[in-house]
Amino acid sequence: MIKIEKAERLKQLPPYLFAELDRKKAEVIARGVDVIDLGVGDPDQPTPQNIIDSLTAAAQKAEHHTYPSYSGLNSFREAVSAWYKKRAGVSLDPVKEIVSLIGSKEGIAHIPLAFINPGDVVLVPSPAYPVYNVATLFAGGEIYEMPLVKENAFLPDFSAIPADILERAKMMFLNYPNNPTSATAGSDFFAEVVEFAKKNNIMVCHDFAYSEMTFDNYEAPSFLETPGAMEVGMEFHSLSKTYNMTGWRIGWAAGNADIIGGLGQIKSNIDSGIFEAIQIAGIEAMRDDEAWLQEMRQLYTERRDVVMAGLEKMGLKAQAPKATFYIWVETPEGYDSTSCVAHLLEKAGIVTTPGSGFGAPGEGYFRIALTVSKERLQEALDRMAEVGF
Ligand SMILES: *Cc1c(COP(=O)(O)O)cnc(C)c1O
Repeated sequence: MIKIEKAERLKQLPPYLFAELDRKKAEVIARGVDVIDLGVGDPDQPTPQNIIDSLTAAAQKAEHHTYPSYSGLNSFREAVSAWYKKRAGVSLDPVKEIVSLIGSKEGIAHIPLAFINPGDVVLVPSPAYPVYNVATLFAGGEIYEMPLVKENAFLPDFSAIPADILERAKMMFLNYPNNPTSATAGSDFFAEVVEFAKKNNIMVCHDFAYSEMTFDNYEAPSFLETPGAMEVGMEFHSLSKTYNMTGWRIGWAAGNADIIGGLGQIKSNIDSGIFEAIQIAGIEAMRDDEAWLQEMRQLYTERRDVVMAGLEKMGLKAQAPKATFYIWVETPEGYDSTSCVAHLLEKAGIVTTPGSGFGAPGEGYFRIALTVSKERLQEALDRMAEVGF
């Protein structure tokens, strides 16, 4: 047996913070408890039928069985370009300013490899989707965490970043509508981002995964519609959350041609693109989708309202989200993130996610995902009220 030793890049990863929670969850399930899982950020509903039909028809055609083009079918990238025109009023060159991704996670994980050298700093929000940190570490970059706190509406405070960090900072990740806090960012904030990025020569990578999952007629602005954004940044997007397509693995990166080109160069050396039949189904997803968007928004609005009403009755504090399928709840008196989540699991059989698992500034919160039916959500809220805190 040879000695198998992991590389430093794996050894340096932070410990998996949900391991203990996973163990407890398995234990509670083994006890026979009817566990309600409000932990996962994965839509519970199926992919719309027209998208599935489009995939099966395209899969029958031999022309789609070969290696796809690295950067994506032209027709897929044209559909993305048309989406940006209609949705955000932004004109994008489908060839130079758009690249298809095997889900946006893939692009997020790869982009620092194109631009980050050892010692370069990447500005990463905290709490956040964990891939920004991991991607930075894999590229040998240094993480500088920008805390997202309630007092600043869960937006980063650029004036708090030290000058020596700004000098070495080369890239910044942002994500609005935000996972896990469900906060949104206005065009005024994005204008501030462009100015900050220009002044400090920092590439902006905006994750727009929840762009369409919005409520009460709120429309989330694309970062790319900000004046000057195309000079400093790009946006990740995906069909996963909007069309219940998390398993399909299709997304894109759009924006500044040099940034998109760099990411494309990394990708062409690692993967061979997305199965063309899936790209064709992706075009179908974006085509004439108003009725679908209405239906999806209605579903999550009802679920959100059930949870907000239940939390309010218990005296638990949370902002009613304008977007995303998450509710970011303040832990009650006497609990921190971990003990609160453990209490809900052990006493009520409810899985939630501790805010601290997304980064230290997430301490004092837990996240509820609206990914079960409103009847199950009501049941979860009733159980919570019964066991109390
Ligand atoms: C779900 C999610 C993604 C990943 O989506 P895929 O396109 O399925 O890889 C990216 N960013 C955030 C913030 C997410 O919550």
